[in-house]
Amino acid sequence: MSGIVAIVGRPNVGKSTLFNRMIKRRDAIVDEMSGVTRDRHYGRSDWNGREFSLIDTGGYVVGSEDIFEKEIDKQVELAIDEADVIVFVVDVETGVTGMDEEVAQLLRQVDKPVFVAVNKVDNAMRAADAVEFYALGLGDYYTISSINGSGTGELLDAVVEGL
Ligand code: GDP
Ligand code: MG
Repeated sequence: MSGIVAIVGRPNVGKSTLFNRMIKRRDAIVDEMSGVTRDRHYGRSDWNGREFSLIDTGGYVVGSEDIFEKEIDKQVELAIDEADVIVFVVDVETGVTGMDEEVAQLLRQVDKPVFVAVNKVDNAMRAADAVEFYALGLGDYYTISSINGSGTGELLDAVVEGL
């Protein structure tokens, strides 16, 4: 049995950094898909003996901040359709943005597990700042640092539990 985990969120929050950390297995497969999925990266991983496929969305923003919000919405809607579990990445450095609120609005309507990952919590001092993400209306959140790995184990525990 394998499930699909999608990583969504606006540009520069650290989705790809998290993806790369989660597919740490040497035999992880990363493919560029064609067509509508051109800009999505797919990988495989496992955690606690549970295998899953991973989708990193938003590859289209490489080298550009200039992205239409409707493109993000489209990616989120695709992820909602495809995935069994969704990881919504936000950024503690910027706090809640309008684009975060827009993505959250889509995700609040989803009948699948959604995990809010407040990224860039590289040290304990930043953990307190994460509290503002309750305002997204998606419940509790996980504080993580995709760069140094802190908190990602707890997030993965919850994610595979939701598969
Ligand atoms: P994406 O656009 O959401 O895929 O974001 P990326 O993974 O490309 O990361 C955007 C920027 O945030 C890069 O400069 C990363 O190095 C940085 N970044 C990602 N995760 C972390 C983190 O946990 N802490 C810090 N301080 N920076 C991070
Ligand atoms: Mg990316």
